[in-house]
Amino acid sequence: RDRLGSAPEGGRPPLTVLAGPTAVGKGTVAAYIRDHFPEVRLSVSATTRRPRPGEIEGEHYYFVDDEGFDRMLASDELLEWATVHNQSRYGTPRGPVDQAAENGDLVLLEIDLQGARQVRASMPEARLVFLAPPSWDELVNRLVGRGTEDEAERARRLETAKVELAAAEEFDEIIVNDEVPRAALRLVELMRG
Ligand code: 5GP
Repeated sequence: RDRLGSAPEGGRPPLTVLAGPTAVGKGTVAAYIRDHFPEVRLSVSATTRRPRPGEIEGEHYYFVDDEGFDRMLASDELLEWATVHNQSRYGTPRGPVDQAAENGDLVLLEIDLQGARQVRASMPEARLVFLAPPSWDELVNRLVGRGTEDEAERARRLETAKVELAAAEEFDEIIVNDEVPRAALRLVELMRG
């Protein structure tokens, strides 16, 4: 195949998108895959948000300022992008994803729902996987438990999560994040085909 999204009939999807509500553990599942399944190429997003302690430039994100993000948009470098939680912008650099897909690698994007919809529209062959919490209470517990947001921010994210949970039906597959290693393995097995 010569271009992303033009895999032969019956071929493996050019990439897999993992999305799901806030605090469901997408990032944790993605990190687990990064550490345990080196065969999976995890896309590194660009973001305008500030690094959290321990986050490494080029490994977790490419941290850019607003002007840098605008430049990437202007030169059409992003496969998809979104403003998440009404705050920072996040986007998937197109180049590495195209390259990995061309090589036939397993490519994973961990992005929000808006981004997943953009990928669906621009690349119908992509596989969309929804990571679901075992229950709503469990989702609230996780958001409070990780303690990375203040109360106002938590309330905002839970509002988003309500809407996001309803979107599960738009996805090709649903994986319940009961235990991270199990959810990660199920995702990788799906990707291997
Ligand atoms: P965090 O700031 O906690 O790392 O991520 C916040 C949200 O941004 C998560 O829901 C994550 O999936 C989403 N996100 C991360 N990278 C991207 C991206 O490249 N595109 C989109 N649309 N969302 C992203």
